[in-house]
Amino acid sequence: MSEPKGGPFLITNTLTRRKEEFKPLRPPHVGLYVCGPTVYSDVHLGNVRSFLTFDVLYRWLTHIGYTVRYVRNITDVGHLVGDVDEGEDKIAKRARLEQLEPMEIVQKYTNGFHDVMRLFNILPPSIEPTATGHLIEQIEMVKRIIASGYGYEANGSVYFDVPKFAEKHAYGELSGRKIDELLANTRDTEGMDEKRSPLDFAIWKKADPVHLMKWPSPWGEGFPGWHLECSAMSTKYLGQTFDIHGGGMDLKFPHHECEIAQSVAADGHAPVRYWMHGNMLTVNGRKMAKSEGNGFTPEELLTGNHKLLEKGYSAMTVRFFMLQCHYASTLDFSNAALQAAEKGLERLMKAMPLLDRLKAAETDEADIAALEQRCHAAMNDDLNSPVLIAELFEGVRIINSAHDGKLKLTAASIDRLAKLMRAMVHDVLGLKDEGTSAKTDDGALDALVGEFIRMRAEAKGRRDFAASDAIRDRLEVLGIRLKDGKEGTTWERA
Ligand SMILES: [Zn+2]
Repeated sequence: MSEPKGGPFLITNTLTRRKEEFKPLRPPHVGLYVCGPTVYSDVHLGNVRSFLTFDVLYRWLTHIGYTVRYVRNITDVGHLVGDVDEGEDKIAKRARLEQLEPMEIVQKYTNGFHDVMRLFNILPPSIEPTATGHLIEQIEMVKRIIASGYGYEANGSVYFDVPKFAEKHAYGELSGRKIDELLANTRDTEGMDEKRSPLDFAIWKKADPVHLMKWPSPWGEGFPGWHLECSAMSTKYLGQTFDIHGGGMDLKFPHHECEIAQSVAADGHAPVRYWMHGNMLTVNGRKMAKSEGNGFTPEELLTGNHKLLEKGYSAMTVRFFMLQCHYASTLDFSNAALQAAEKGLERLMKAMPLLDRLKAAETDEADIAALEQRCHAAMNDDLNSPVLIAELFEGVRIINSAHDGKLKLTAASIDRLAKLMRAMVHDVLGLKDEGTSAKTDDGALDALVGEFIRMRAEAKGRRDFAASDAIRDRLEVLGIRLKDGKEGTTWERA
């Protein structure tokens, strides 16, 4: 493939700080790596925004014709409390508090993470590697870093020699930090009995005897440094140089800066061609974080059970709310904005079923090709989802006018409009029609109707149409209307 569908795709490369045309190394293949969660606690909404950003990137790349290998890791060891080199492992600490095995903690919060991703319709990656599953690759990488002269062992730990690396290579390029300033600003004394410079970071840490998570290595029993796993796993699955690396803005330094240094030291060249960073979710201007007490969980959001929430909001409302903001801008969370998003999404979703009911005319009074072109242009311009949404509301206006008989469309235009709207709303923005069921807060009713839908499908499967029709008609009498669509059967209140 020479050109993606619908013209060049521009993305802001945070390494060069420029909007650049995206050209993959080996088209039509694209390698995408995104830093996943550290599975020691429940996911909060700020995390969801970051994963949503790259979900839309993944969906868009796929939509314009690329074959994407999407790797998003699970950090299940090595991430220490305070994101530093000394102290307790976040997962081991949680295991001690909850009196569970570290791997029980990992499983529990990995399951929870997956539930939340499904709830927000965030697609699973192609590969979801874990740090503990790639100890051999990480140990090999430490060996290569030592061999290149940029790693040194001290008392069973191995550190990355940042000042030595910076003599020959650009350290701080991604985050815009300079070695001298970093040195002048550091008050860091942790590990200084072992480190040559306070800027050095651990790539392998010696485990003390009580440490729960440790593995044998050439330097004794220990565990990998937090930054190492992403370098080892991204290059294992995507090659030593790959297309796109994504993550939250807060990971730029030190995490991503260290990833670059590790790869350059171990493999001799920079690992990533395009770096992309999603911005933060703030609440009243402050970063959403557990420590701030403003990091509500998806469950609290759905039920409205949190002091900052006036009511509950559905997962798709929140998804739509987030997509109304460009990923590189901060997004401030407010009840007013969420309620506006709820109304907007409802207007959009109400127009979608009308696409099947439009009557064709002989002439066209709307230019669907131009609308299609503008939708593509919006997303090709650095994933500008707010502009795309504005264009989709132009689509809604056309649908509603045509449905009311105030605007004429030919059969070909209706078909084109339907394809465009469904592709953009469902495939690219990942918005699902939650129907009335999601708004009743009545999970039991939803489950019950779901059971009838399953029974009806079974009846249809054995060609017992009398039974399947009877289920549908009986539900209709009870005020439940079933709708058969491409995605399966959904329901709404009749
Ligand atoms: Zn990472």
